[in-house]
Amino acid sequence: MSATARKTLRTPSALAAAQLVPRDRLAALEQVAARYAVAITPALADLIDPSDPHDPIARQFVPDARELLMEPGESHDPIGDDVHSPVEGIVHRYPDRVLLKLVNACAVYCRFCFRREMVGPGRGGLAPAALDKALAYIENHPEIWEVILTGGDPLVLSARRLKDVVTRLAAIAHVKVIRVHTRLPVAAPERVTAALVRALRTDDKATFVVLHANHPRELTAQVRAACARLIDAGIPMLSQSVLLRGVNDDAQTLGALLRALVECRIKPYYLHHADLAPGTAHLRTPIATGQSLMRALHGRYSGLCQPCYVLDIPGGHGKSPIGPGYLSADCSTVEDFNGRRHAYPPLRSAD
Ligand code: SF4
Repeated sequence: MSATARKTLRTPSALAAAQLVPRDRLAALEQVAARYAVAITPALADLIDPSDPHDPIARQFVPDARELLMEPGESHDPIGDDVHSPVEGIVHRYPDRVLLKLVNACAVYCRFCFRREMVGPGRGGLAPAALDKALAYIENHPEIWEVILTGGDPLVLSARRLKDVVTRLAAIAHVKVIRVHTRLPVAAPERVTAALVRALRTDDKATFVVLHANHPRELTAQVRAACARLIDAGIPMLSQSVLLRGVNDDAQTLGALLRALVECRIKPYYLHHADLAPGTAHLRTPIATGQSLMRALHGRYSGLCQPCYVLDIPGGHGKSPIGPGYLSADCSTVEDFNGRRHAYPPLRSAD
């Protein structure tokens, strides 16, 4: 049966029937599923090797009893959206841009999701009146240059609803850029239809689509074709990946992912240090691991393949690049990609 004809797996017993989890773990996984949404689309289920206990796709989507353990420092709102939300659906953290959270559903639920407390079936999205208020907020703030459609995954909405939102945003003169954050082309590439692509395009504003992908195996022929449909329609694509233990925390896998993205004409944008979402400690790495991976990529992989390694500072203080740094604190030496230091001359006064 084709992936499109099959159903998304949404319960531990459906995962057991598909041989993605052993039946003796069902009781614990039912507790996880009662707390955090579960969904694995046919396209992603097909990528999982059930015989591999360390399968990197399974680690991202198959629930794990360790999700019930909350570690010190973990938070229900790890990147501090709430403190920057002036009206429902808007997060206004940086001066020139806002998030517009249209929907709380996704095609697939990632076990490390930073908004895992807010996303899931039945958690709804922006009702029409709330959407009106959110758009009015954007209209009344001329400093907003860019609007980032997020959620959840905004591309689970119908093409008609997306077109309506994009058209209304495009009518706001000071909004110049519409950016869409999505995992849909990976989770359900067949849903990137011609109608959906048309819904995202506007003639007088720049639309960017940022794809969330974490492992090179996610970029199947169908996913590449879905991304090509967007790019060929004039929509540039960037990527964001989350650094995850046992998924992409080795230079070979991460490098292969970044190269595969560039080969698809998708520019790697962010490598996120995994956020302090509840029950995700088993998937996080130390920051030093991320820095050492970035060092391993620097100079050995094309500049096109280099993302910015960032940390969302807990409490809502925004993202910051977290290195590694190559310049000495006094700017007198700089390190090359082989780890050798070179002197850099001080600036002479012009007068
Ligand atoms: S697709 Fe994004 S919002 Fe949805 S579960 Fe995954 S990380 Fe969270």
